Amino acid sequence: MLDELPCSVYLVQGHDARLVLANHMATTIWGATWKPSQPMSEFLLENAIRIIGTDGLAMAPERLATLRAVQQGENVHQHQEVIRHSDSTALPVLVNAVALDPEHMRFPLIPSVSDGRAEPVPVALVVHQDVTALKEAEQLKDDFIGIAAHELRTPLAVLKGFAQMLLIQSERGKGPSLVDWQIEALQGIDQATQRLVELTEDLLDVTRLQAGRLTLHLTPTDLVALTRRVMKRLQLTTERHTLSFATIAEHLVVDVDPQRMEQVLGNLLGNAIKYSPQGGSIEITIQENAEEQMAQLRIRDSGIGIPVEQQAQIFGRFIRADNARTYGIGGTGLGLYLCRELIERQCGRIWFESAEGEGSTFSVALPVFVSGEEKISYASADSRG
Ligand code: ADP
Repeated sequence: MLDELPCSVYLVQGHDARLVLANHMATTIWGATWKPSQPMSEFLLENAIRIIGTDGLAMAPERLATLRAVQQGENVHQHQEVIRHSDSTALPVLVNAVALDPEHMRFPLIPSVSDGRAEPVPVALVVHQDVTALKEAEQLKDDFIGIAAHELRTPLAVLKGFAQMLLIQSERGKGPSLVDWQIEALQGIDQATQRLVELTEDLLDVTRLQAGRLTLHLTPTDLVALTRRVMKRLQLTTERHTLSFATIAEHLVVDVDPQRMEQVLGNLLGNAIKYSPQGGSIEITIQENAEEQMAQLRIRDSGIGIPVEQQAQIFGRFIRADNARTYGIGGTGLGLYLCRELIERQCGRIWFESAEGEGSTFSVALPVFVSGEEKISYASADSRG
């Protein structure tokens, strides 16, 4: 029965994941035959098989789903791995590894493994599903988004350029002067076009990230000045919200891409405003954690909050909370996804606390810039103990 299944199924035993049994599909997925009793690492080495994680890097053995199940007794669900065979072909798989209760094993499955050990020997059942077709579909979707967004750029630039030209030239007295409703209409076109430009840029960033084509230019940047700038820009967009800023240091230099950081802060502050439809105060604070050499920025609003059951997914692509829709607040669900990717690529962290109906606090931690000389003195201080 197992041999008829379209996915690979195998059973391993012991901390080094020795094979007990595997179905036919396991041989197809691995591109090699795993011999009974052979430990997993030996099998991978012998057949020059490498396992790659979602970050594109070879995975450390302790992160492999199979080994986590036998070594930590963990149940690993839908773990994405890529099996790279010795001929360099790659197979994307979803792995589910279930740690079975060794107490319920009536007999040692491989006698030699349990010899001389007092504790029960761990056993895990592992299923691999080939997701090549799904990955191809996802790639097609990303390509489509990328092409559509790219093609939208030129006509949008033309629209924006002409709307601004009409506004500026008539203000300078060139041509017949415009009446108020004409100026308002042109401002409306200008603002809507700007929104479309931002939307297409977000879509392009998503496809760049997916394809690993997004490059960052890290430079020492004053986080306090940058935050002030973004805050002033966003305060101009609202009269119902009051943005306040508190910092202990007048300057705090972090190692980031300034343009991307402006994008992240703009997004987080924009969300704080957008998801507080009743207006109110938005507090921004910057602190330094000298021990960890991290700067911590916090944005607190008292808006609609994020329902608990949706908090775990909120950084995902195109994910929006139900209450945002109920309030009729528009959005794409791309902002937080981009924020997290950008922050993590700058060696930072982003997290939040939120209670529905009470408000949200988003926090960002970024590495403080340490010059070469300071790094050396920190290192020597460490070595002195
Ligand atoms: P968008 O705002 O375009 O929908 P984001 O990725 O920026 O996309 O945010 C994802 C979702 O997270 C939003 O749709 C909203 O449900 C929720 N969210 C983000 N920030 C806040 C906030 N400050 N308060 C309440 N909900 C928020």
